[in-house]
Amino acid sequence: MVDKQTAPELFRPPLGYPEAPYDTLVRAVAERQPERPAIIYHNLSLTYSEVIAMTNSLANGLRALGLGKGDIICLFTFNRPEYTIAFLAASSIGAVISPMNPSYKEREIAYQLENSEASAILVQRELVPMLKSALEGQTFPALRHIIVTGSQVPEALPQAVPFARLLRESSPRRPEPVDIAPDDLLALPYSSGTTGLPRGVMLSHRNLVCNHLQVVTAANLSPVDATLIFLPLYHIYGVLLTGTFLIAGGRQILMERFELDTALALCEQQAVTWFFAVPPIVQTLLNASDEQLARLRTVKYLMSAAAPLAPELAIRLRERTGINVIQAYGLTETSPDTHFSPLDPARIRPASGGLPVYDTEQKIVDIETGERELPVGEDGEIVVRGPQVMLGYWKDPAETARVLRNGWLYTGDIGHIDADGYLYIVDRKKEMIKYKAFSIAPAEIEAVLLEHPAVLDAAVIGVDDPEAGEIPKAFVVLRPGQTATSEELMAFVNSKVAGYKKLQRVEFIEAIPRVPSGKILRRQLKERERARRLT
Ligand code: ATP
Repeated sequence: MVDKQTAPELFRPPLGYPEAPYDTLVRAVAERQPERPAIIYHNLSLTYSEVIAMTNSLANGLRALGLGKGDIICLFTFNRPEYTIAFLAASSIGAVISPMNPSYKEREIAYQLENSEASAILVQRELVPMLKSALEGQTFPALRHIIVTGSQVPEALPQAVPFARLLRESSPRRPEPVDIAPDDLLALPYSSGTTGLPRGVMLSHRNLVCNHLQVVTAANLSPVDATLIFLPLYHIYGVLLTGTFLIAGGRQILMERFELDTALALCEQQAVTWFFAVPPIVQTLLNASDEQLARLRTVKYLMSAAAPLAPELAIRLRERTGINVIQAYGLTETSPDTHFSPLDPARIRPASGGLPVYDTEQKIVDIETGERELPVGEDGEIVVRGPQVMLGYWKDPAETARVLRNGWLYTGDIGHIDADGYLYIVDRKKEMIKYKAFSIAPAEIEAVLLEHPAVLDAAVIGVDDPEAGEIPKAFVVLRPGQTATSEELMAFVNSKVAGYKKLQRVEFIEAIPRVPSGKILRRQLKERERARRLT
């Protein structure tokens, strides 16, 4: 039985949420503190009142173009203030934002434009050639408008409307309110497709309002807080960061991509209090010198999410910096957060994804049937329920019915809950290695490999074996100047894991293929392995 003393979070009354459109939460903050800085980007610093004025102008400009309730607007930009402004403007007129990965090539852009039936796309000037090339020779009947960042019409896309012109020519007054219900769609992010074709995830105003407030509360954010956002805004983790800091009245400093020295300098200059990262960034920080890490002195918490974090890395970073290194857990399908670590240093468990956030239920069910609830400590599929759970997959009722049952979301992740209600994520269901009748979590073996002083990075996959079905094989990147043999690494791992989890092969490689959030592209490693067998 989970105890009220050790995990009071599990016994709280409901938080209570406004049944209002998403942008109204930020508008309320702007009324309270119009002159405080909200978004900082290079030399630009926008106050809350400026953010709202720009939001209003853009909302009015979008309306003048004929865009409104239910229209899908793709955002094809790197991290920039226009991103957040577009999100708030879309919310104000009932439109829907579908973020698009700025590293997408023609085929991927075309897929999302077509699948989402986007009415408009906002594109960053530098990405115009890629968009043009994606549009060439194809028709997208729903696509009526292209908006481009900056003030110039690009030669390559003469039909595009410059963002700055839309703002300049439209009133900064709040647009006439539209009838928006809490369950109306607000965002349509696409999953990254590490486990299949990208799917549109339907998130409502209620989903995002609730999850933002759940996280503001879990992190106890207030106007004194500041964060650096280098995690991509096209990913739901980025959407959450930009929104929670606005709703908390804090400051956010946008970076287009992570670069260690710039990030550390900004942390110091801007007195950053929260550092949101993914596991590869934690690893990069650990490779930095003590002098560099000293620049993080105002940071109270470093949060890692989106992929498994080897607890060893969290502990080492905490020892070197004194910063509380914590985890959260969630999925695009849950807006994204369902779990968050307690903030009290005495209650942080570095290996855990945290406790459920407000109004969120968790259970672990057996993997095969998805029905029987498992006791404390046993691994099974993680199932969650709460107001942040998506409406469903876009145009995919079959897949929606598969993962959403009675309001419970079947996450496809394997994990367990400890006696105090903390969640531990072991791995993704689809990535488990089947060795004879046993399941081996690649992430567990990777975490052990990372404890070896010569190992910089590692990925484990199952490779076919006539006797066992699959056996674990590791791809390892060594630290510069370090050496280790396959035998040595296998002995190191095998002395620390149960017999059936024994690592049986090691291959040295230059870099582990990953998506930016840190998830390993195991599919690529498997294809590499298969290709090798065929030659
Ligand atoms: P897909 O692979 O289905 O295309 P995706 O890669 O876009 O989806 P996201 O929604 O971005 O998936 O990420 C959600 C997944 O990230 C979770 O299902 C889980 O596997 C992983 N994850 C999130 N937080 C953690 C954490 N703290 N520890 C381990 N894994 C995590």
